[in-house]
This record gives sequence, C-alpha cells and structure tokens, in this order.
Amino acid sequence: MTATPHERRTRACQERLRALDAAAVICSPGANLQYLTGVDETPSERQFLCVVSADGDPVFSVPELAGTQVDETTWVDDVRVWRDGGEPRAALDEVLADCELGAGRVLLDETMPARFVLDVQRLLGDRAFGLATEALGSLRARKDEAELDALRRAGVVADRVMRGLREDAAALVGRSEAALAREVEHRLADAGGDGVSFEPIVAAGPNGAKPHHAHGDRVIGEGDPVVFDFGTRVDGYPSDTTRTVVLAGDPPTEFETVHGVVREAATAAIDAVEPGVEARAVDRAARDVIEAAGYGEGFVHRTGHGVGLDIHEEPYIASDSETRLEPGMVFSVEPGVYLDGAFGVRIEDLVVVTEAGCERLNDSPRGWSVDG
Ligand code: ZN
Ligand code: ZN
Repeated sequence: MTATPHERRTRACQERLRALDAAAVICSPGANLQYLTGVDETPSERQFLCVVSADGDPVFSVPELAGTQVDETTWVDDVRVWRDGGEPRAALDEVLADCELGAGRVLLDETMPARFVLDVQRLLGDRAFGLATEALGSLRARKDEAELDALRRAGVVADRVMRGLREDAAALVGRSEAALAREVEHRLADAGGDGVSFEPIVAAGPNGAKPHHAHGDRVIGEGDPVVFDFGTRVDGYPSDTTRTVVLAGDPPTEFETVHGVVREAATAAIDAVEPGVEARAVDRAARDVIEAAGYGEGFVHRTGHGVGLDIHEEPYIASDSETRLEPGMVFSVEPGVYLDGAFGVRIEDLVVVTEAGCERLNDSPRGWSVDG
C-alpha cells in the first residue's frame, strides 16, 4: 500500500527527530497534529495527545468519545482511548512506556495547553524538552503536492468571489462594511469554500488606513476606496487575497498614484521570488519601490507571511528575515500604503516558490476600478 501524504509527512518528521537526536514529538489538537495525522480536532479541556517517537508508529491517547472519529480519520492504527471519569494521565503513562522512547529531548507542540504539558512533564520528569517546530517548521514550510492542490483550489474560490464583488459593485455601494463582510462570507461558502480563513476585512475610506480594522458600521459611499482582504479554506488549507477597489464614483486625490505604487511594489516583490533568495530580499524589492515614490513612512508592515494550515506561519517575508526561499514554500506578497485619515491601499497575492521562480495562486484583476 502506498503511504498517504500524512504518513509520508510523519516519516519525514521522524527522520528530522533522528537528525536532531530527539526522542519524540508530542502533538495536541492543532495544525501540527492535522499535518501529521489528518486529525482536525478543536482543542478542549480533555487530554488529547499523539506521541510520535523517532522510530516506530505514532500512538494516540484520546477521550473515548472522540475515539471512533479519530480512528476513521487517521492513517495511524494505534488509537487508544480513556473514559470520562477515568485517569488520562495513567493512559498517557502507558502510551509513553509502550513507545519505548530513546534518549534525547521530547519536543512539545507549541500550542499545547499547559495542563497537558504538566502531565507530560510529570511522567517524563528527567527529560529535556523543546518545541515541535524544531522538527516540523522546515517540513511544514515546504508544501507537498496535496497541500499545493488544496491551496490552489482555495485561491480559485477567493478569486471568484473577488471578481463577483467588482461585477456587483453598483449594488454594494450604500451598504455597511459589516454587511459586506457577511456578504463575502456567504459568497465564499456558495463558491465552494469551507468557512473563512480569518475574519474578512472590508475597510472603506479612512478605515482602510488602519491595517487592523476588520469592518464596522461605516456605510460605503461613492469615491470610497475599499480594502477587501479575505479567504476561505479548502481541505483545511486557506486562501488570503486583498484588492483595493473603488466601487463607484471618483477616488480621492492621490489615490490613483498610491494604488499604482503599491501595485508596482507587489510586482517587483513577486519578480524577486526565486529559490535561494533570502526572504528579506523580497521585502526589500517591495519597499524600494514604495520608498522611491516617497511613501516609505506609510508602509507599516512586513511584505508577507507564510500560509499553510496556519494562516500565518513560516516563512515571514520581513526586512530582517534571512530565511532562504525553497521550492514549495507558500507565502503572501502584500505591500500596502496607509495614509492616516485618508485611505489605505493593499494588494495581496499568494505565491508558491517553484524551481524557476514562483507561481501565483491568485489571478483576479488587481486594478482599483470595478472593471479591473
Ligand atoms: Zn490578507
Ligand atoms: Zn495575508
């Protein structure tokens, strides 16, 4: 039988553990667990762990009420359950004994709740501990084919919705940012997405100058530049795209210039993407364009972030990041210029690093007018 993508990732993780002289990684519900086992579980107070030792097969220790579902979802054969009212720590003790951990550190999921961490530490008292990211960070940063396929499809859904917003612009003016955010959510679901990958941003007029503004009750008027930034998930993987559009009327003074600068910065950054290049060079490429145009003060954030099971993950495209880009890495390129009290402009595409350069995962029009 050929290994599933999840099993292949687990085997690669075990190889990393051996290279690091680490004994095991222990995951709790979250992106690491989903990456290795396929189990997408919401964290709760009940102890729910998976021990992946450097050799052998992983073992789950989960609440009985989750057992069947985990069994049906994962390639991992050994799924042990403990009963409500029972003693999860005793169950875990048995699992750890059966895993026959070698010498070396035990790496813990960085999102593991403290109550589970303390249980593990009590049982493995004299061990040194580290973080799972040591073994998983570089693996998760380079997406495999199954992941890229999901990311591409998530991008298609987001692009379809972005195009639809332009087409229906006339009907959207006069509604509030919050109403449009809900509209975006419905449209993403209708187009085949699974929920939203983050709270959609619909920021009109001066609100667009606040990069952290999600949406509020401002009614979108004629001439308001609107920053739309949203995404959905497909097979667990997210999209994340931004366009700044004037839905009706004439934009404010300077807007067209700024939009042109940001668009040029995005193109320059994407042109800079290729294997072997440091992430900071991509950030630099965007920043150079914006600084040369005199808007450097208005570009208040890094150029991008890695995207995977987590919407923000490695690699970060920041001015101080020496991470070298590798084929399979996926990240956003999203330069922006924010003019306090006036408007903001951001344009965001996801890209995947290829052997030759990069492939964009978004292709909806990038212009500011409704016709693109
Ligand atoms: Zn975004
Ligand atoms: Zn983003």
